[in-house]
This record gives sequence, structure tokens and C-alpha cells, in this order.
Amino acid sequence: MTLDRDALFIGGTWAKPATDAVLEVVSPHSEEVVARVPEGSTADIDAAVAAARRAFDEGPWPRMRPAERIEIVQTLSGLYAARLEEMATIISTEMGSPISFSSLAQAPAPWMQIEAFLAIAREFPWEDRRAGSLGGDVVVRHEPVGVVAAIPPWNVPQFTILSKVIPALLTGCTVVVKPAPETPLDAYLLAELLVEAGVPESVVSIVAGGREVGEHLVRHPGVDKVAFTGSTAAGRKIGAICGEQLKRVSLELGGKSAAIILDDADEAAAIEGLKFLGVMNSGQACVAQTRVLVSRERHDAFAEALASAIGAMKVGDPLDPATEIGPMVAQRQQERVEKYIALGQEEGARLLTGGNGRPDGLDTGWYVRPTVFAGVDNRMRIAQEEIFGPVLSVIPYVDVADAVRIANDSEYGLAGTVWTADVEAGLEVARGVRTGTYGVNTYTMDFAAPFGGFKASGLGREFGPEGLAQYTEAKSVYLPLPEM
Ligand code: NAD
Repeated sequence: MTLDRDALFIGGTWAKPATDAVLEVVSPHSEEVVARVPEGSTADIDAAVAAARRAFDEGPWPRMRPAERIEIVQTLSGLYAARLEEMATIISTEMGSPISFSSLAQAPAPWMQIEAFLAIAREFPWEDRRAGSLGGDVVVRHEPVGVVAAIPPWNVPQFTILSKVIPALLTGCTVVVKPAPETPLDAYLLAELLVEAGVPESVVSIVAGGREVGEHLVRHPGVDKVAFTGSTAAGRKIGAICGEQLKRVSLELGGKSAAIILDDADEAAAIEGLKFLGVMNSGQACVAQTRVLVSRERHDAFAEALASAIGAMKVGDPLDPATEIGPMVAQRQQERVEKYIALGQEEGARLLTGGNGRPDGLDTGWYVRPTVFAGVDNRMRIAQEEIFGPVLSVIPYVDVADAVRIANDSEYGLAGTVWTADVEAGLEVARGVRTGTYGVNTYTMDFAAPFGGFKASGLGREFGPEGLAQYTEAKSVYLPLPEM
């Protein structure tokens, strides 16, 4: 089956692109071109925004009752659920995520989001009549924010598209999605499902392209809100543009999360947890627990055990079900990770496993070896900067207060975990760490609850009623006061 495409999804139909530019999707494993699709241009973005604007200003979608939109999104949910395997394979093919991770998270987590958002939308106070403070009633309405620009990254592409498209649809917004140039393919499957589900024409458009095309979309006067997931550097730029134009904006950005191992933690369980949470998606995960904080007394033994577990993980072809760590998405990402591995050694961190060099038995592909550094000082760049590869830093702490201090000594504040036999003690640690999400002996995102970053990890929240509300504007209608 070919994954090639020759059209863009603009205005809810398959449209001829404005230019002949092509995006070549290259397998990070074989380094061969696996698909060619049109590369969106600024003219395509203009057409998509014009369609979304018309659909918002004049079309049925924002004017439907929430229950009608819920029904269509419910249909979409069923259609999506029937295509999970296909979605997982497409994502692993385009960006190299191990199929074990795609089948567990990349494909099904977006479906779980849809279901969670549906449950929230059914209970959401779309129009709420409340007693005012002056004796009369006030009707508070949550109206759609307008035309949404949704900009996802390549690492969890479908996940970060649906985290924006679903709340936008449920609230009555219209959307232009700009997938990352590395991962345009999964969005084509979504486009087919949107048509099949009966989402009206022009409500969603999808135009994959690069940074300039993305920035054109952000600046476009027809856009009311930008929902972005990606790097902190791009987030700052986008936030600045939106600030100037007073556009609504939500930003899900980078992280450098700390896993705090308390002395009473079950070592085997913590290591098993970190084998997933530290290097999931080959380390290309914003919530990856890449700093591992261990008391001085247990540091060496824990670091050795962690290194032996991480070093034994199977690196290889993303489509092999046994693979635990796949290639980096692109050569420039491989080079970036290797630069950090070299930097860690220069900074004086102790390399326990991994290091630069091609993993055994792999002749092609942008692979790096899963790497663990021990004796890391939190001031080192490998502890401060987001590497976005399978590289962990084990950092010693003096006592629990010191561990919390180190966890907080970061420009980021996205996620974190604590590992302990005492859940209450873990909760106390969670209270002290300044991050948007936190896990005690686990880290499983729950889409009923808000997700997002403190500090340079972002602005605003996705998921939960808080996330849905970010696609609405509150309007207060004052009803007549009673006669005095
Ligand atoms: P990136 O910032 O380079 O690109 C993200 C998306 O934004 C892409 O579609 C890109 O084309 C577009 N883009 C880049 N610059 C832009 C600009 N100035 N204007 C408009 N669009 C622009 O990030 P990436 O390398 O694709 O993704 C990795 C980053 O994403 C990591 O930092 C990771 O932590 C972060 N991330 C965060 C979350 C979260 O929920 N907090 C989730 C996944 C990934």
C-alpha cells in the first residue's frame, strides 16, 4: 500500500496544492523515502484559514447544539478505534517510534483523549444561569473561541493533533492543523475519518509544512487562537506573536523532569518504571524522566542497576515488536543527541552505559545507544537542557529537601515522579515540586485532569474541563434586576 498523496485536505475536501513542493517522508530506520506528499505553502494556509473563517462566521458548526457536535465526535471516536493498528504502523513508519510504543500509546492514547473529552463535554456548563451579586440572574455562556491554529510536533503527532482538534470540535471552533514536516502521514488518516464521521465541510483543514508556513499560520489575521506543542524556543516566538496580536494561545513545551528515588523505594520497581518513563519513544518524549535523583548512599548501586537495565534494552527496527528503542526521528536529531553525550563526558559525568557510536548490528538508521551518566551535577548542561534522546543523568542528593530543590532547579516544570514505599510521603514530595503534572510510583497521563507546564514548559492546559475551557470565551449576559 502506498502512503503517497497528491492532495491537501483544505476546507474539508481534497484540494490541489498551490505549489508543486513535495515533502519526502524518510524512514529513520532504512533512511529511504517511504512517502511523498504535498508540502503546504503560505497560499495553502491562506485558503485553509479562509475556509475555516467562513465555516466559523457563517457555517452550521458553531451554531449547533453541543449535543449535536458530541454525537459527531462520538462517531469519530468509533471510527478511530477501528483503525488503531493502521495508525500505529503509520506513526512508526514515519517517525521511527517502536511499534510496541505506538501500539500502547501513539495510536490508542488519542482515542482515550476523545472519550475523555466526550465525557467532559457532556457535563460541561455550556450555558449556566447563576444568581448575581446584585439580586438579578446572570447567564454565563461558554462560546467557541473561533478559528484555531493547531501546531503539533513530530514526536507524538496524532496525540498532539487530537489534543487540540477534539476540544476545538466539541466547543464549536473551526481548525487549521499544520503537522510537522517529518510526520504528515498520520494526519491523512485522520482527515479520512473526519469526513467519514460527518464533520461538516471547512470545519477542519490540514496543511503540513515547515516552520515558515507555521509562522504564517500563527500570524494570520483570520486566526483567533493558537494551540501549539513543541520546543520552548518556538513556543517563546509564537507566544510573542500572539501577545502582540492579542490572540489566545496555549503552549505545551519542553521538559527536563526529575524522578526522585526515596530511600525506601522498591529498587526493582523504580528501575522497571524508568525503563519506560526515562526513555519512552526512544527518549523523544516531553515528559521523559531524564534526571534520576538518588540519595548519596544509594547513588552508585542504583545507577549501576539502572545502567545495566537500560543498556540491555533492545535497539532496532521500529516495526519489530521486540524493539524497545528505535532510531531518532532524523539525522539532525541523532547528531544533537550525540553532541550531548560527548558534552556529558566533557563535563565530567561518569558514562556507565551507551556512549557515541552505532549500536551493534544496525547498518542504517539514525540510532543512538541508550546512555546513562552517573555522578551528574545538576548544573551541568546535560542536566539542564532537554536532550530528547535516550540519555539519563543520575544525580546524587543529600536529603529529601535537597532532592526537591534539585528537581526545582530547572527552567522547566512539566512533569516528575517520586518512587517510595510511602504514598503519603510521595504526595508530600509532589506538593513541593513545581511542575504541571506529577506521579507517585507511576506516571500515567489521565485525560480527565489538566496537563501542562509550569515555568518554561508552557502556558495553559490541555485535557480535563480546564483544557476544554481553553477553546471557549466566557460571555456574561446580565438579566434585568428585580424591581426595587
Ligand atoms: P519544534 O518547536 O521545532 O516544532 C514543533 C512544531 O512547530 C512543528 O510543526 C514545527 O514545524 C512548528 N514550528 C516551529 N517553529 C515555528 C514557528 N516559529 N511558528 C510556527 N510554527 C513553528 O519542536 P519539535 O522538534 O517538532 O518537537 C520537539 C519538542 O516538542 C520538544 O521540545 C518537546 O519537549 C516538545 N513537546 C512538548 C509536549 C508537551 O505536551 N509539553 C509534547 C510533545 C513534545
